[in-house]
Amino acid sequence: MRKEWFFDKFCDAQIAVYAEEGVVTEAVFEQENAADLTGTIYKGRVCNVVPGMQAAFVSCGLERNCYLPLGEGAARFTSYDGEGNLVSVPDIREGDEILVQIVKPPRGTKGAKVTCDLSLVGKTLIYLPRTDFLGISRKIADPALRERLLKDADKLREEGAGFIVRTAAAATDKRHLRIESEYLKRVWRTVQQAAQTASVGDAVYRECDLPFRVMRDSLGDGVSRLYVVGDRDLYEKIVQLARMRSDVGERRVTFCPEEENPFRKYGIAPQLRALCSRTVPLSNGGYLVIDRTEAMTVIDVNTGKFTGEDSLEETVFETNLVAVKEIARQARLRNIGGLVAVDFIDMTEEAHRTAIDTALAEALSAGRAKCRVLPMGDMCVSLFTRKRTGGDTLDFFLAPCPHCTRQGYVYSDRYLAIILRGDLLQLFADGYESAVVEINGGFLKRLLAGRYLSAEAEGIWKDKRVYFVAREGLADEKFTVRGDNAPVLSLPDGAKLLY
Ligand SMILES: [Zn+2]
Repeated sequence: MRKEWFFDKFCDAQIAVYAEEGVVTEAVFEQENAADLTGTIYKGRVCNVVPGMQAAFVSCGLERNCYLPLGEGAARFTSYDGEGNLVSVPDIREGDEILVQIVKPPRGTKGAKVTCDLSLVGKTLIYLPRTDFLGISRKIADPALRERLLKDADKLREEGAGFIVRTAAAATDKRHLRIESEYLKRVWRTVQQAAQTASVGDAVYRECDLPFRVMRDSLGDGVSRLYVVGDRDLYEKIVQLARMRSDVGERRVTFCPEEENPFRKYGIAPQLRALCSRTVPLSNGGYLVIDRTEAMTVIDVNTGKFTGEDSLEETVFETNLVAVKEIARQARLRNIGGLVAVDFIDMTEEAHRTAIDTALAEALSAGRAKCRVLPMGDMCVSLFTRKRTGGDTLDFFLAPCPHCTRQGYVYSDRYLAIILRGDLLQLFADGYESAVVEINGGFLKRLLAGRYLSAEAEGIWKDKRVYFVAREGLADEKFTVRGDNAPVLSLPDGAKLLY
């Protein structure tokens, strides 16, 4: 199966989209630097050691100094000598430069809590580069499996370092453990290299970085290709990560110039556009209606052209089966969390109901999030829970509607700006030099104030002209874009040039 990841940057957001055979099944949107600091490794300087408290305070360039509990970990301290080399010291003293990792991010007036027991989290293993330790997740219960995994992990360990086998290791084999251990050791080497030249306060490892997380979590999934749009720095970063993974390699990473509008070229754009829709068409003419409520997400399965009562049990069953696949995809794509209720089309045969339960549990297990499905009963309503990491994808796309006392949702400015950028990219790719955008006046003001298109205006669109014409009464999402190559453009009064 063709498995592709697309990375893009837009305004201050990072985007990662995953497609199987061209069908988008996962989309992660994240504000840059909004990520949790937990797991970040900093080069810090010891400000003071408080023997009475068994603790030290370390400056890491954050607003407040970080709290470092001392005690049994003291033997593992390493510091930098005058030449930037890492040396082991029996104790830490004021002024020492050391590597610390955030255990608890800063909150309110409290500084972050840090540790010198560094750990690099992988999908199946946690690597402890400076701790002589071997452990395994409690959630792996089978004694024989525990023993085998611990033995495999022990073989991968070098002196003075350690591993913790994570729950996900139970579903993989020895080869994956090896690939991941090599990967984590390589990451650790780059961290050490970066630390040598880093200044105090520099982050030398960011666990929550989106490309980093994607590379880690996709281990063993077999990635065919990684596309990076526009950003050279991002491309270099992903190449570096791919190089460290023997099952990926740098030749699988492709750079796509933004001008080519790769999201359109590879058919990703329309799928992202459909992501917000309440109704989702099914391949057999039926459709889903997905509603978010406070307590849960409700999904209604509809036959479309078939009317309920005349339908044969067999046909209904087939439609429900098609719906199951799409429900699992949508749950992953929208990153739906918590409780989900699915109102399937009524089936009278119990065997059919059981088959749907099984199919739903199986389809949901393809994603990384943990799901639990309850048997549907004779009302044909299924309940399942989905434990997600990260936020609801739609929160990036939708904002509470300011008109109907926030009962409904409207598209977020960021989402509309992404769509507008796509339309403009396409227009310029088609050979136009100028574009005229008719747009709601209020939205235009927010678009410019938010500087959503400033990177493009100053970069790839330097020689292009984008004119905005404010139209009152036009809904925010109903903007129109047209290309123009006339030497003299006829524009209405008040047309505004982008920046
Ligand atoms: Zn409304």
